[in-house]
Amino acid sequence: MQDCLFCKIIAGEIPSNKVYEDDLCYAFYDIDPQAPTHFLVIPKQHIQSVAAVDETNSAIVAHCFEVIAKVTKELGLDSFRVVSNIGEQAGQSVFHLHFHVLAGRDMTWPPG
Ligand code: 5GP
Ligand code: ZN
Repeated sequence: MQDCLFCKIIAGEIPSNKVYEDDLCYAFYDIDPQAPTHFLVIPKQHIQSVAAVDETNSAIVAHCFEVIAKVTKELGLDSFRVVSNIGEQAGQSVFHLHFHVLAGRDMTWPPG
């Protein structure tokens, strides 16, 4: 999608520090990490947020979670948090579906 930051990262138009890539998804380290390990897993297909998941794209989202399980195992992370912000009030700033994966420090609950 034109003018989408994460579509540009997927296309290689904006550099990123890649963690993992396959036909359906891309994972890369967050530019402003909020934990010792903080990366994002995104579908290559432009989906606005979790609120836009439906029967036409949910298999891709399921695949993102397989990738999260695989990559965290490879990185030796046995405790981590997965977060997806939906809409501005919840803190979404990039409107291309992404799952934050955060690890390496104590996490508080509830989140702020
Ligand atoms: P959101 O605020 O939408 O939940 O998450 C967007 C995330 O994208 C933020 O954590 C932000 O630091 C990250 N981000 C924004 N621009 C870039 C960029 O150009 N490169 C990388 N690697 N991360 C980015
Ligand atoms: Zn996009």
